[in-house]
Amino acid sequence: MIEGFVGEIITATSHEYVPAATSYGVLGSPVLIARPSSTEDVSAALAYARAQRLEVSVRSGGHTPFSTNEGGIVIDLSGVRGVEVLDGGLVRIGSGAVWGDVAQALQPHGLALSSGDTFSVGVGGLTLGGGIGWMVRQYGLTVDSMLEAEVVLASGAIVTASATSEPELFWALRGGGGNFGVVTRFTFQAHPLQGVVTGSIDFEPNALEQTLRNWRDVVRDAPQELNTTFLAMPSFGLDDPARWQVLFCYGSDDISAAMTALKPLLDLPGVTGQDVGSKAYVDVLVEPEVPDRALTIIDNNGFADNFSDELIESLVDAHTKFGSAILMIRHIQGAFNRVPADATAIAYRDAEILIISAVFLTPDIPDDASSKVNALWEPVAAQTAGMYGGFTNSTDPSIAELMYPPSTLARLRRAKSHYDPDNLFRRNHNLAPHVEGRP
Ligand SMILES: Cc1cc2nc3c(=O)[nH]c(=O)nc-3n(C[C@H](O)[C@H](O)[C@H](O)COP(=O)(O)OP(=O)(O)OC[C@H]3O[C@@H](n4cnc5c(N)ncnc54)[C@H](O)[C@@H]3O)c2cc1C
Repeated sequence: MIEGFVGEIITATSHEYVPAATSYGVLGSPVLIARPSSTEDVSAALAYARAQRLEVSVRSGGHTPFSTNEGGIVIDLSGVRGVEVLDGGLVRIGSGAVWGDVAQALQPHGLALSSGDTFSVGVGGLTLGGGIGWMVRQYGLTVDSMLEAEVVLASGAIVTASATSEPELFWALRGGGGNFGVVTRFTFQAHPLQGVVTGSIDFEPNALEQTLRNWRDVVRDAPQELNTTFLAMPSFGLDDPARWQVLFCYGSDDISAAMTALKPLLDLPGVTGQDVGSKAYVDVLVEPEVPDRALTIIDNNGFADNFSDELIESLVDAHTKFGSAILMIRHIQGAFNRVPADATAIAYRDAEILIISAVFLTPDIPDDASSKVNALWEPVAAQTAGMYGGFTNSTDPSIAELMYPPSTLARLRRAKSHYDPDNLFRRNHNLAPHVEGRP
């Protein structure tokens, strides 16, 4: 069917079609799902897509609705998932691997990479988006440990992107998403890690403003091994009351150093419980349920270089008015800040925190619900910058405009015009190719 393609092809007549056509709870209707077994197979699948004028979805872990489509082709990289540990802590990973596989494979070598918080998220999608993980304060973003990528371009050409080969592509891949080609293999510099100390601290769910200020004051002075996220979950019924927690991962197996670092958090007013334990890093990666598609989620997120009292006040005001919303605040200060703003496509390198808010609405929502939520978020948006594309549920084409500062966006669009002028790779937070006179 596809000339030169030796991997697996699934069409609508196959019993595997429905699961293969589904991405993160969304059933698409692609004409075929191609599972390449090699880089050359990816090239052949792209040639077919171009000739047949098929829309292209590229799937690694399948955690977004982008990686299925209506009437197009899905290039599913789940067959390209090897994890190879090389000398000097270098690791070569097939982009269809999931981060849980990677953590498991690196553990016997006493190595780890800071990825996301979820076992089954794909290496391809998370890395290209940046990658904010449980050791972001120690090792920065996942892309900050990336040294090389093998990429199949829209033309079908196979190139290597690194600091010395196709450097502009290398820059764009580190945060610019799947806009530039299909990455088949990454090389990373892994970090020594024997284990972590991890868990959660529960807080009484009242006095949010004061609790956030207390958490901020403590984590600002905490050692960089201590990575924390503040999480406020609303009540989802009588059996599932509201809960506020600080989730943490201390990136070392030194329990006594971890307990010293955690003590100021455990001593905060309002602490009602704690769960602290030593674990292998792989066991920190969780597997949340796929969200109920019947619920509408209106989310917002942004980076803040100063989690000031004023910002906390605005945030608490918006969060309280939202009613049923999840609030997550990731403390990212540390190695993340040591990378220059123009070194990768993730430019908000002065950020102290990333704030993520998700408002849950039942199906019968008024037409203006989204604009009402966004209006309440406005005072927070005015004190934050940008957006992290991996933490929005939205597939709105305007999202890419919000994700990057103007100079980064313009540079990404120039790279897009060079590497994918016809926008073959558009099932993503899409960067329309550069147009003269536009930012
Ligand atoms: C439950 C959950 C938890 C998450 N936790 C975190 C987290 O802790 N930290 C974080 O940073 N992000 C997190 N994310 C966001 C996640 O990084 C993005 O959604 C990411 O795009 C998912 O990657 P994937 O490969 O699983 O998804 P896919 O749907 O397979 O891919 C998403 C998009 O990435 C591009 N892409 C994927 N693979 C390739 C490739 N090999 N070559 C070119 N383009 C490719 C394509 O455009 C594709 O449409 C989380 C998402 C979910 C759903």
